[in-house]
Amino acid sequence: MSATASLIKKYNVPGPRYTSYPTAVQFDLLEPVSLGSYLQARNSSPRDISLYLHLPFCASLCWYCGCTTVITKKKSAADDYLDYLEKEMKYYAALLHPEHVVKQVHYGGGTPTFLTPEQLSRLGEMLHTYFNIAADAEFGVELDPRTFTREHLTAMMAYGMNRASIGFQDVNEEVQEAIHRIQPMEMVQKCMDILREAGISSINLDVIYGLPMQNRKRFARTLEAIKSLDPDRVAMYSYAHVPWIKPAQKLLEDKQLPDADLKLQLLLDGIAFMEQSGFEHIGMDHFAKPNDELSVALRDRSLQRNFQGYSTMNGLDLYALGMSSISSVGDFYFQNEKELDDWKAAIDSRGNAWVKGLRLTNEDRLRRSVIMQLMCSRSMTFSELQKTWQIDAKVHFRNEIRRLRPLEEDGIVSITEEGIQVHAKGRFFVRNIAMVFDAYMAQHKEKPVFSKTI
Ligand code: SF4
Repeated sequence: MSATASLIKKYNVPGPRYTSYPTAVQFDLLEPVSLGSYLQARNSSPRDISLYLHLPFCASLCWYCGCTTVITKKKSAADDYLDYLEKEMKYYAALLHPEHVVKQVHYGGGTPTFLTPEQLSRLGEMLHTYFNIAADAEFGVELDPRTFTREHLTAMMAYGMNRASIGFQDVNEEVQEAIHRIQPMEMVQKCMDILREAGISSINLDVIYGLPMQNRKRFARTLEAIKSLDPDRVAMYSYAHVPWIKPAQKLLEDKQLPDADLKLQLLLDGIAFMEQSGFEHIGMDHFAKPNDELSVALRDRSLQRNFQGYSTMNGLDLYALGMSSISSVGDFYFQNEKELDDWKAAIDSRGNAWVKGLRLTNEDRLRRSVIMQLMCSRSMTFSELQKTWQIDAKVHFRNEIRRLRPLEEDGIVSITEEGIQVHAKGRFFVRNIAMVFDAYMAQHKEKPVFSKTI
């Protein structure tokens, strides 16, 4: 076994992906009055913000799915959903400073392209009615090649959409049948061609390893398919088998799920392929071409993590609309009602649908800053921490530094008098490094909460 393979095996423990810190499992019931007054005070002056819209509908369930979805074939369900999104937008439009500027928009799901082009136009119109969307805003949409058409793209680009992320997963028919998601290569290629012809310059492909029926030969076909599709970014996710959260995943258990050794081998094949194909390893499972914005942000240290993974915009308040979505504004995380009917009922009764969340303590904010620096900039200096947080960082984090020593021995980090540096080979282990600084980790030792790294 290669040195990289043994390290990946060694550090393959359950842990969060740190799209937030503290993570969503720490969220508790919220006191909406104090959150409301906090948001009002925060919006007493203009701010640049980011918007996330959760569009939960899918025509059928992919059996590996870990998202919050509503499975239906009825397009009219989206009309009703848009009525409620509009009410939610009105609520936020009244809350935000009139001169706020939206610098980033993301449609996630579910399947945003479940909506018809007409419904997407209505959504774009609503966005521009209630918010000040910057002309150069980053506007990304998750696309499903099975429902995407040129008309969908035209309807979204008319309102500023300029980035795309395609759910690709695996090119093999046997795997697609096993996961209940049939999308021939020609369909994905057509989706790619439409996007490129329209001038969409930042295109991501989501790929998953560890799916049923995958083996090295079949995964090699998927990797070759990535090469011919020629995306700007690739997110190569490990299939997260969490049937205690997503019971439908039990359907995959009798369909030849790769064992741990095969899964590791698929990952190693994937990493080798990405390196040989000229992609930069951004961190964890994200890769990007050297001229892509993510690679540029990595180099100029403006990279950050949010609920969509790695992102280029630093420090924007994120307002998330739609069922189950999570906002991150200043010291607060807050999540909307998770079920469709509860979300609608909440919007009807009070305009917002906040139900759970938390207010970060000073210690949470300090640890969030350390975790984000290590995951995004791959370094932190003790003197900077001292200056910003008025702490003696080496004393404050003495236990964490002690727990990092084994990672230092494995060549993942260096700990010097000045600070902590993540090495090139540590890019895959950033969540293990982050776990060392997570004050809540000890609470999760007894029960399965998180999936493993691979
Ligand atoms: S299309 Fe995406 S969100 Fe919908 S079921 Fe499949 S994986 Fe889940």
